[in-house]
This record gives sequence, structure tokens and C-alpha cells, in this order.
Amino acid sequence: TPPRARKPDWIRVKAPTSEGYAETRKLMRSLNLATVCEEAACPNIGECWTKKHATVMILGDTCTRACAFCNVKTGMPRAVDPFEPQNTAIAAAQLGLEHIVITSVDRDDLPDGGASQFVKVIEALRRETPKTTIEILTPDFRNKSEEAVARIVDAGPDVYNHNLETVPRLYPTIRPGARYYASLRLLESVKRRNPAIFTKSGVMVGLGEQRLEVHQVMDDMRSADIDFLTMGQYLQPTPRHANVEEFVTPQAFQAYAAIARAKGFLLVAASPLTRSSYHAGDDFRKMQAA
Ligand code: SF4
Ligand code: SF4
Repeated sequence: TPPRARKPDWIRVKAPTSEGYAETRKLMRSLNLATVCEEAACPNIGECWTKKHATVMILGDTCTRACAFCNVKTGMPRAVDPFEPQNTAIAAAQLGLEHIVITSVDRDDLPDGGASQFVKVIEALRRETPKTTIEILTPDFRNKSEEAVARIVDAGPDVYNHNLETVPRLYPTIRPGARYYASLRLLESVKRRNPAIFTKSGVMVGLGEQRLEVHQVMDDMRSADIDFLTMGQYLQPTPRHANVEEFVTPQAFQAYAAIARAKGFLLVAASPLTRSSYHAGDDFRKMQAA
């Protein structure tokens, strides 16, 4: 293995020290909610939480899978918290979120993969904060996806996000529990069931993928009618995780973004620190206004 590459200076992040950060943290603890911001060790946490933008991770903080890029802990998860939907709605109200992103760990142990908890969260949000737009970022639900997607789509989120994460060639090492074409089909089925819902997906770069492979992923996404694309630099959370093979330059991200727009995505966010939920609300509002 190559020595760990030093981070280039375009990957600079502010330390999380603001009052907004502390308040967000306290609120999430008091409501017993996990966030992907913390569990994935997101580099944007200082910026996002200062603005009180947090992405709630439902179904607990322990995942039944162990993807090579992901910092979320793996193991046997605890029972589903019945207060989580209501607490998520309380968090959205207290943070004053105009747009909320809800994600989850994979729960291959649950009969419905956790779909009913997504539905309950969407229902609680619609009840308590009807003006908040809802974006969900779901797992692939493995062999239960048809049923799970139908239920969640019928609950009516505004944006349905599911990340392809990387190019198909790298799935066996980076995303071993998942299937590239199953994930594509999942997103396609969302659109087919309700064309009014925006679909969204994302990839990490810097894992050893070739430019042309990324362009092919974009084409596959557009063939599945995916509306929004996010692209960001993969950062290695710990030495036990997959190596960073390349730090993609900001210029290369701009080139990717230009190509993606030409391919017809409605929204494209591509920069080293872009994450699925980074500026998701602002971008969504801008698109709606356009
Ligand atoms: Fe959280 Fe997303 Fe912001 Fe990262 S980019 S801190 S995951 S809201
Ligand atoms: Fe992380 Fe999701 Fe993979 Fe679980 S399924 S290890 S939360 S990326």
C-alpha cells in the first residue's frame, strides 16, 4: 500500500467551535438522534452545524454492512426507536429547517429493511413541519427494494436520493454488499412510481476510477432519469478504510460538472467537499426558483 497521501490545501476545513455547532449537538443528543455528519466524520460539520443544517441518520447508529469507505460502525444494531420519527420532526422544527435530509444505516436485519421507519419519519415531518421540504437518502434495501421503495415513494418525499457511490468496476472492493445495477433500477423505479419526485444520486471520486468510467456512470444515471448529481472527493476516515488513490483537483471537478450539466442533470454539485447533503436545501430552493 502506498503511504497515506497528504491532503492538498483545497481540503481545508474549519474546526467546529461555533455556538450553532454546540447547540445542534446538544439538541441531537437530547432527542437521542444520530447524525451522519458525526458518524461519517463529515469534513463539513463545522460549516453546516454553524448554520444548524444537520442530516439525521435514522434506524440507529450501527449498520449491518461494512463498506470500505464508510466510518459508520458495523455490528448488530439495537431495536428501532419508536420515538425517532417524532424526535426527528422536533429537531427539524427546533433547527428551523426549510429542507431536511434524512438518511439511515442499512438494516438488512429488519424484515422491511427499515422502510416503515422512513414512512413514519416523513409522516411526522409533514404533520409537525409542513413547510419543510423532505429529502431522503436510503439504502438499497437489498432484495426487499421493490416493496420498500413503493411504500416510501407513496409517503411523498420531495427528493429521493440513493447513492451509487462509485463506478461499477470498484463495487467488489468499495461497496461489496451492493449491486450497481440494482441501485440504478431502484432510482428508476422511484421515478416510474411517482414522476413528481426528484431523484438524486452521487459518487465519490479519488478511489481509482477513470474519467471515462465516471462519464459512463453519468450516462447510466440519466438513462434512469436521475435528476440531481453530487460528486465529492473520497477522504479516508481511518487507515483501516480504502486508500485515497487520487486527490481530484477543483478544476477536474469543474470539468465533471460541465459535462454533467451537458448531459441534462437539473442540479449538479461537484467539488472536493461536496457531500450528498451539502448545501442540499439551498441548491434545491435555487432550482425551484429557476
Ligand atoms: Fe452533515 Fe451533510 Fe453537512 Fe456533512 S455535508 S456536515 S453530512 S449536512
Ligand atoms: Fe456506511 Fe451505508 Fe455502507 Fe452502512 S451501508 S457501511 S452506513 S455506506
